Amino acid sequence: MTTKAEPSANARTSPEGFSRLIYLNGRLVAKNEAVVSVFDHGLLYGDGVFEGIRAYNGRVFRLQEHLERLYRSARAIVLEVGMTPPALEAAVLETLRANKLRDAYIRLVVTRGEGDLGLDPRKCPRATVIIIADSIALYPEECYTKGLEVNTVSTRRNSSQAVNPNIKSLNYLNNVLAKIEANLSNVREAILLNLEGFVAECTGDNIFFIAGTRLLTPPTSAGALEGITRGCVMHLAPSLGLLPEERLFTPFDLYTADEVFLTGTAAEVIPVIRIDSRTIGAGAPGEKTLRLIRAFRELTSREGVPIPQ
Ligand code: PMP
Repeated sequence: MTTKAEPSANARTSPEGFSRLIYLNGRLVAKNEAVVSVFDHGLLYGDGVFEGIRAYNGRVFRLQEHLERLYRSARAIVLEVGMTPPALEAAVLETLRANKLRDAYIRLVVTRGEGDLGLDPRKCPRATVIIIADSIALYPEECYTKGLEVNTVSTRRNSSQAVNPNIKSLNYLNNVLAKIEANLSNVREAILLNLEGFVAECTGDNIFFIAGTRLLTPPTSAGALEGITRGCVMHLAPSLGLLPEERLFTPFDLYTADEVFLTGTAAEVIPVIRIDSRTIGAGAPGEKTLRLIRAFRELTSREGVPIPQ
């Protein structure tokens, strides 16, 4: 099976499973059947790559860009996906169709596959491909209207000379450690600095600030993922009178900014109103951020690859 996934017999008969079918290595299976080997190197070593993708109103937003990033990440770790991009695209659409989902968060995971207890990837003959489509638990709506409180944390972003942050790998312990620090200080997100002390990004989001008519975000070389939402926002900015720019900056620039916001597939565009207990701008979501939120939502409502009925 390369493109069209067949529901397994169990999935057809299980009402619970029928409501959520998971794509696993060419088959759509019930949730309780969607299991991988304990020898999978995705589990044993975090050896694999992933994408988080959104579908809005029956269309998959920026699907091509997500697939391109997934294959780039896979190439960077010399991981053979074992499916062509068109076959993987068809599998994503089929998973959404089979689950009758029109608004969804899609998690696409490709692991090194089953091997032995050693870490040598040559022992893993076949990648494991997983597609999970579900409804999304976004931040509560009040975070968008009132804004988030975030902190810089002591965990530094991975060095690009070790694990390049542009590889969207299953190895998220760096991000998890930063998230734990945010949790321990009761804020929603963590800002990670890179080893040089420049702002890199958050645990699952890119970061921007606005100063006058300038819209600034760290370059990917600072340790920021080349976020797809980030790209959309930079593209939308000029139409809102903002000049996008990639530049290195430190927390000082965030503390003194007019507005700060985060971007990500799950979070979309979300305002930040406090950083390290300091109030940003007027302490409420800024007008330009609110306009970007509206422009981004408008974009997601009209663009995307249609999900077949
Ligand atoms: N940075 C990190 C570390 C991420 O995991 C993500 C995706 N969740 C992002 C930024 C945002 O990227 P995108 O807009 O493509 O979702």
